[in-house]
Amino acid sequence: MSQAEGGEETFECCDVVVNSQEKVSDMYMQLEKLGEGKFGMVYRLQEKATGKIRAGKYIRTRTAKEKRAALAEVELMNLLHHPCLVQCLAAFQGPTELVMVMEYMAGGELFERIVDDDFEHTEPSSAQYMQQILEGLQFMHGQAVVHLDLKPENILCVSPGSHWLKIIDFGLARKLAPDTPVKVLHGTPEFMAPEVVTFEPVGFSTDMWSVGVICYILLSGESPFQGDNDMETLSNVTAAQWDFEEETFSEISQQAKDFISQLLQKDPRCRLSSVQALLHPWLQQPQPNSMKALSKERIKQFLTRRKWQKTGKALLALNRLMLLSQSPERKESGAQDEEDTGCSQAEDQASGSLPQQIPSFSELLTDRGEEEEGGSAAAAREVECQHGCAKPVLDHLE
Ligand code: ATP
Ligand code: MG
Repeated sequence: MSQAEGGEETFECCDVVVNSQEKVSDMYMQLEKLGEGKFGMVYRLQEKATGKIRAGKYIRTRTAKEKRAALAEVELMNLLHHPCLVQCLAAFQGPTELVMVMEYMAGGELFERIVDDDFEHTEPSSAQYMQQILEGLQFMHGQAVVHLDLKPENILCVSPGSHWLKIIDFGLARKLAPDTPVKVLHGTPEFMAPEVVTFEPVGFSTDMWSVGVICYILLSGESPFQGDNDMETLSNVTAAQWDFEEETFSEISQQAKDFISQLLQKDPRCRLSSVQALLHPWLQQPQPNSMKALSKERIKQFLTRRKWQKTGKALLALNRLMLLSQSPERKESGAQDEEDTGCSQAEDQASGSLPQQIPSFSELLTDRGEEEEGGSAAAAREVECQHGCAKPVLDHLE
């Protein structure tokens, strides 16, 4: 399984200097929307001069802080030239947004591909995906960069016809410096390492935990820490409480289970590094008798639940926006409530009016660059309530 498999696909990379002289629209035609994230929209683009298809990530940069964060993402991507990491090929700074032009990943999300009827899903094929994720991570960690948002949505396939994968979305990634502890409070509860939840310093091993969670879901369709709500999920994570369910893991090899067990270790020092994980027997000596087709049904259910969670979050954020727009005083106080620790009754009602099956606020978000570094900078600010209202969601929508 390699980059060569896709035939015409080649690895393109370059060091990007942000262009503030020209507009992205001078050089690219904007096509349909590909996705939407915390920091802006992603569109398919066509380069006017060459006809090449790209992906353009439009990141809001209305404040100096947003601008710094967007520039930091481009700078980090300049360090990450590897075939298993999505490449930034150009960047344009406009008055209110920065556009990152990236290679276009035409194959979509890996998990969406896997559930296609004509797609083989076995233990060896899963091991090959994990290998590519780890190769990307090995390079990234070698550059002292930690991703901090590894989850299935951030693993895309290069094209519909190949098994070549790339890690995307370096919006929360950080370059770590020796002896400078970095604490963060963002990510997605299901994939977050215990040290993130307890606001302890993160490291390369923080990504390795998320790799363990992704691999667990890939092989079983079950999410090891998912609770009935975010608090339960986070508490399962901090307790590092998980096991291999009899039913879902009955067909999975001992080697695969050992691989996962060595990643889902509460103590970060006990987790395999990316280099060690690549040397694990599950990846090195695939079992020829493990060609059995794995269940796609549970992965389908997992994908459906994740979509509901995202819809729930979007509705919640919309509700809060509406509440604020109805009340000018609230808008003013809302602008400074970073230290607030609760939600108004109106917000409680608004979020309570969401359909029951939509889980409460799920992703813990912070403004990028607001985390505590070396114990000196301001701590990451979170405003959560019972129904999971979190102010940063609002920041990203305003
Ligand atoms: P979030 O933090 O919510 O995951 P984000 O704002 O950091 O989002 P990305 O994850 O980088 O943004 O992109 C959002 C979505 O856009 C992705 O989940 C994917 O569907 C699509 N996308 C991003 N980059 C590409 C790409 N290079 N090619 C094709 N699709 C892409
Ligand atoms: Mg993403």
